[in-house]
Amino acid sequence: MSMEPGAAINRVRESGLLKTQGLIGGKWIDAYDGKTIEVQNPATGDIVTSVAYMGKKETTDAISSAYNTFNSWSKHTASERSKCLRKWYDLMISHKEELALLMTLEQGKPLKEALGEVAYGAGFIEFFAEEAKRIYGDIIPATLADRRLFVLKQPVGVVGAITPWNFPLAMITRKVGPALACGCTVVVKPSEYTPLTALAAAELSLQAGIPPGVLNVVVGNASDIGDTLLQSTKVRKITFTGSTAVGKKLLAGSANTVKRISLELGGNAPCIVFDDADLDVAVKGALAAKFRNSGQTCVCANRILVQEGIYEKFANAFAKAVQNLHVGNGLVEGIAQGPLINEAAVEKVEKFIKDATSKGANVILGGRRHSLGMTFYEPTVLGNVNDEMLVSREEVFGPVAPLLRFKTEEDAIHIANDTNAGLAAYIFTTSIPRSWRVTEALEYGLVGVNEGLISTEVAPFGGFKQSGLGREGSKYGIDEYLELKYVCLGNMKEAYTK
Ligand code: NAP
Repeated sequence: MSMEPGAAINRVRESGLLKTQGLIGGKWIDAYDGKTIEVQNPATGDIVTSVAYMGKKETTDAISSAYNTFNSWSKHTASERSKCLRKWYDLMISHKEELALLMTLEQGKPLKEALGEVAYGAGFIEFFAEEAKRIYGDIIPATLADRRLFVLKQPVGVVGAITPWNFPLAMITRKVGPALACGCTVVVKPSEYTPLTALAAAELSLQAGIPPGVLNVVVGNASDIGDTLLQSTKVRKITFTGSTAVGKKLLAGSANTVKRISLELGGNAPCIVFDDADLDVAVKGALAAKFRNSGQTCVCANRILVQEGIYEKFANAFAKAVQNLHVGNGLVEGIAQGPLINEAAVEKVEKFIKDATSKGANVILGGRRHSLGMTFYEPTVLGNVNDEMLVSREEVFGPVAPLLRFKTEEDAIHIANDTNAGLAAYIFTTSIPRSWRVTEALEYGLVGVNEGLISTEVAPFGGFKQSGLGREGSKYGIDEYLELKYVCLGNMKEAYTK
């Protein structure tokens, strides 16, 4: 079903989920100096609405609110916290259409993908509602007869969560879910491009009975908010998803107060198609891994390495499939690719394509701005790419699929690992021994074998090398928000012998 942007925004407004202020201590608050910033629909250039543009003072108050609430929230029983999270999940699902419409309006992804992100994002809240009840400690066999040794797991405290625009909901829930489950309180800073989905989700958290001050959201000046979070001794952990450059700044900035830090950073995913791949499976998988969200995901296939025996066949079939991707406003039925987030993103794509073609790559398909104008870009396939080109060295973060030819399995592994990134990798082969060999040799945190869509809340997500630190989602994700406390109970002899 297609919908006009005006009708979409009205539907969200009527549901009460169009929030334009920050959330501090359970209250919706303007920036103290009244500043606002416009949120633009990247598909039309229209202003969706304006939101509060906050800075240091509001962030300081949000931290205090989270700090003051930590004592009570962390003392709720696991079952009480679990019930609140479960209610929040239920509300997200019952408002999935409004959340998805907001996401498409401010981020541009097709409505079907936005609905998929709501299910995925809400899934983290459901999963960690369940995990809240399974944070077990340990009893350690004592080394002396009159001692008892055990390990408690306790929440780290106030968490600062900074998130990007490409997954406006899921990157927040992947952090807030485990944090709240184990008793932490949070200050979230969403991207200034996509604050509306974050604020709507926060409104639903209040409706779910999550107490005021447990979840705070500040929107505004990124470096002011980031620096305030970093400098505060009340904030015990920073969790960040975004570019590697900003992640490095946050890592350095956390040193002064020795904060815990988790980083989910950029990728440069290789997608390796071997001669023995099933062609249909490889085309379908590479298409999904490359063009989801217009190529704007950290796990998007950035380099498609194709073995020489299957190169021509794959290139033809892949280009044919890419040609069928309909580009347009994500609110229109049947659209597979929306606009890029902003003009800078399009200019980056243009720069990378110019660099590649000047060094010998050929444009098999696309390679231009789309006739729709704005930030729409034609789905593009480049042939004869080599690993010296920018498009192989860095994340293009756009709808450009570079094909690189390789000879042997060893070559493919070498090219794949020849990068500082290490987030996702994909391989397509019908050989089981090869799939194990190559998976084990790849220096990546996630590997898809004959599959291009691999993210799920039940599996650990995170990178090797400069793609990050720590893991999100799954049973491992909650460890990022827990301190281990070793307790030694001594002088037990009397009690032991009586
Ligand atoms: P970004 O520019 O690093 O921004 C991410 C967040 O950091 C935004 O909220 C941004 O605020 C904020 N920020 C920017 N400068 C800051 C500073 N000095 N101090 C504190 N916060 C600051 O990244 P992006 O362009 O939004 O996202 C794309 C990148 O994220 C890509 O590299 C992608 O690979 C990566 N990513 C990684 C994962 C993963 O799980 N590994 C998932 C998704 C995306 P404003 O937007 O308000 O400026």
